[in-house]
Amino acid sequence: MANLAPQRALPSVDRVLQALAPFELPRPMVVRIIRDHLAALRHAPEEPVPAFEALVGDLRRRLVAVADTRLQAVINGTGILAHTNLGRAPLGTTNLNALRSMLEGYSNLEFALSDGRRGSRGAYLEFGLSTLCHAEAATVVNNCAAALVLLLHHFVATSHKREVVISRGELIQIGGGFRIPEILESSGATLREIGTTNRTSVDDYRQGVTSDTALILRVHHSNFFMEGFVDRPTDAEIAGIARSAGIPFIVDLGSGALVDIASISGLHPEPLPGEVLEAGADLVCFSGDKLLGGPQAGIIAGRRASIDALKADPLFRALRCDKLVFAALQTALDAYLHAASRRDAGPPTAIPLVQLMTRTVDDLAARAARLRSRWGARAPELEVHPCQSQIGGGVSPRSLLPSVALRTKPRDGDLDGLLHRLRQHRPPLIGRAAEGYCWIDLRTVFPEQEEQVLEALASAFQSSAGEVSPTTGCGPA
Ligand SMILES: *Cc1c(COP(=O)(O)O)cnc(C)c1O
Repeated sequence: MANLAPQRALPSVDRVLQALAPFELPRPMVVRIIRDHLAALRHAPEEPVPAFEALVGDLRRRLVAVADTRLQAVINGTGILAHTNLGRAPLGTTNLNALRSMLEGYSNLEFALSDGRRGSRGAYLEFGLSTLCHAEAATVVNNCAAALVLLLHHFVATSHKREVVISRGELIQIGGGFRIPEILESSGATLREIGTTNRTSVDDYRQGVTSDTALILRVHHSNFFMEGFVDRPTDAEIAGIARSAGIPFIVDLGSGALVDIASISGLHPEPLPGEVLEAGADLVCFSGDKLLGGPQAGIIAGRRASIDALKADPLFRALRCDKLVFAALQTALDAYLHAASRRDAGPPTAIPLVQLMTRTVDDLAARAARLRSRWGARAPELEVHPCQSQIGGGVSPRSLLPSVALRTKPRDGDLDGLLHRLRQHRPPLIGRAAEGYCWIDLRTVFPEQEEQVLEALASAFQSSAGEVSPTTGCGPA
């Protein structure tokens, strides 16, 4: 066979480039994709050389696959408010306008306007945070995972003791591959597990603390819940044991609610940093982009001496945030601080995540009905249907918000194909599949995106499976 095989007559890069134009990817990326593809064909002599049209089709799909990975705005129709894969908390126009004015040019990031010398990075932010957390002091690092690593590394290294006492009910996994026991061990700590999965007592803590204990860690059950034969001591009880042993008691709160979210119907209460510190925890850490509704950040609050020591740790420098984060977090915290100045202090309505949480079913139903009537008699039918939104981001899985969705069944029964075509629309529309329907939960769709939702649905129903649109370079994989 081999000697009968034709010469590998592959087209030139230029010829393929011409056939693919216009493309949305920058030309150097397109050229690289073509070169790599042709090289792979050249090095696979056992594979038949595809016809030119098929080759161009394969490459077009590759271009789309790469363009899909470009960071871009999407419409969240999943009803998951702080969807980790969709960037968690949306920042909103007000926050972005503030960001723009702070970052368009230079800023006083580390410059003291009072005396013209070097200033302290994030001083206002830290003061605001400590005020909101009723803490002596606070600071910020990259994310809550980084905060936890810093805390463990610092206290284990400086105490010259190795053990971290933690309940077996809190050796949990958060998101993809972030496991508390592994974080503990990678920080140089030795795990001292106490109690059982469902029950840990005050005595377990008392007996678990030895002369080699560096600290007691508690990790909030943020992304799951236990019911039934369960028991655990209060924060105050654990704090008492830590105090008499002269070691820090640290609480990883994860979800990071700064106000009581249970005032919003459907939401379960989450522990507040201020309450946990008041109960006697020395330090707490939590995320900036979960319930707080800000940018990705890890906040640490508590005793001033500990915060100062953490900030002097060389690891802190490696985990510090960029000015973009400072600016976005400062704007979010200002919203909390202004809301707390009002007498009826509830969650701040200037935070987009809070706006999403507090949308009423009546409002959502009215929006759905308007969209339904604009869709009209087009096939397939768009139904208005009740559904439930979730917070997501590994926060409060029991909290469900009653909501309203548009749902539709693809004519050909190909639900995956429909969801894929919606994702290939620009901007991409991310729906949810359940019960044979595609659901677009309106709670996470912004009113100004409604037109685009109708356009995405209309174009997803128009383009049939297998078709690749040459203008957008988009089509089913
Ligand atoms: C989410 C979470 C983390 C990690 O927070 P990131 O900000 O995503 O790094 C840590 N601990 C708990 C308990 C969490 O819920």
